[in-house]
Amino acid sequence: MQHFPIFVALAGRRVVVSGGGEAALAKLRLLMKTEANLTVFAPDPAPEIAAWAEAGKLRLARRAMAPGDALCAVLFYAANEDAAQDARDVALARADGALANIVDNLQDSQFITPAIVDRDPVTVAIGTEGAAPVLARAIKRDLEERLPADLGPLARIGKAFRKVADALPMGRKRRDFWAAFYGGAGSEALRAGGEEAVRATLDTLLQAHLSEAPRPGRVLFVGAGPGDPDLLTLKARRALDEADVVIHDRLISPAILELARREAILVDAGKEGFGPSMSQADIDALIVEHASAGAQVVRLKSGDPTVFGRLDEEIDAVTAADIAWEIVPGITAASAAVATIGQSLTKRERNASVRFLTGHDMKGFADHDWKALARPGEVAAIYMGKRAARFIQGRLLMHGAGPDTPVTVIENASRPDQRILATTLAALASDLAQAALSGPALTLFGLAPRSAEATATRLMKEAL
Ligand code: SAH
Repeated sequence: MQHFPIFVALAGRRVVVSGGGEAALAKLRLLMKTEANLTVFAPDPAPEIAAWAEAGKLRLARRAMAPGDALCAVLFYAANEDAAQDARDVALARADGALANIVDNLQDSQFITPAIVDRDPVTVAIGTEGAAPVLARAIKRDLEERLPADLGPLARIGKAFRKVADALPMGRKRRDFWAAFYGGAGSEALRAGGEEAVRATLDTLLQAHLSEAPRPGRVLFVGAGPGDPDLLTLKARRALDEADVVIHDRLISPAILELARREAILVDAGKEGFGPSMSQADIDALIVEHASAGAQVVRLKSGDPTVFGRLDEEIDAVTAADIAWEIVPGITAASAAVATIGQSLTKRERNASVRFLTGHDMKGFADHDWKALARPGEVAAIYMGKRAARFIQGRLLMHGAGPDTPVTVIENASRPDQRILATTLAALASDLAQAALSGPALTLFGLAPRSAEATATRLMKEAL
């Protein structure tokens, strides 16, 4: 983040603009929404500017800027639409101590003005660090459509009610009250009976929340999917949005953690492959501790929580403490991986069942019904299979699996750094060793990428 967004209190502060054309007009229109003391320097101002000066909305000096003209100004805009003139005026303003912006010149500006969606007192500021004004405008258009026009009046009435609402204890109860107001009750009242009705609704809601018993703590075991935030379920998103505490595995991508409520406590419980992490007992205790204290706990697990997630141990702990819980399913790595290579996990006349295996369990390399798996056409999704690759390869070959059976390893499925290694059972261990994959990887036994024939070589090269 190159620019840090803040909202500056401009009431009564001095803001100086140099320039009298279109660029100055655009900035002044925005600035006149504030209560700043505006001064414009323009030898030849547009008629609108002259009229605003006339009406007392700003002070106009019909001349170019001179040293000292920006003294005590907090902000300065150079809007002459003339690079040399702008550079000269910015130098003057900076010497006077003002923070300076040159319109449409990111490089030489000390601050930039974001695109704004105005639902006063709610203001949404959109910045793209100058990367794409078109993008900013598209986002603005989208938000303009999404944010109801009555958001402004509602927020204004809500703001006036804040002191009264402080009767509610801080935390979840108060948040629930405001969520109910902004989540529909306020709008409904405004439509039905105007601002009076909104105030009455606030009173009723407050009474209801004051007399309600505090909501008990709860645990949601949420599947975060394979990494791409777009592969989260709506339910998972909502859970993150409402969480007080998020206890997550290390595999969870930062883009997903970003979606957690800003005030939520985030706890990294480790648990990545074989690395040292919090012990399972510690994690269980932590979940129970927070939920017992009344928190909405999200236990965020990669993929689907019910697949190799040690879910049952945690559910047992939560149940023993008499805490309510729920599972929110997620997209498991096998689904993401198979989608990546354009294949199906099951296919008529090839395989009518599919196995989810772990390469590794608590006791070491995991044993399976290798004989059954070695039959032609079988498909298995092997989790945590990187280290066990040589062992799995040996067992399958020993039980008669074809050495040329296709095997595809997908690392970081659905993430930007995804890699695909298409190989065969015979070459699996050596290809894997060469590829030196460092991220989580899923091994699809019995499947090659759909386009394998044409591109097998290219994919191999990519993976290496
Ligand atoms: N509950 C998870 C699996 C947890 S076990 C799920 O349903 O996906 C951890 C293993 O999952 C990793 O060792 C790896 O084999 C697999 N895995 C998780 N995320 C992955 C991803 N984005 N790409 C490939 N494999 C992944």
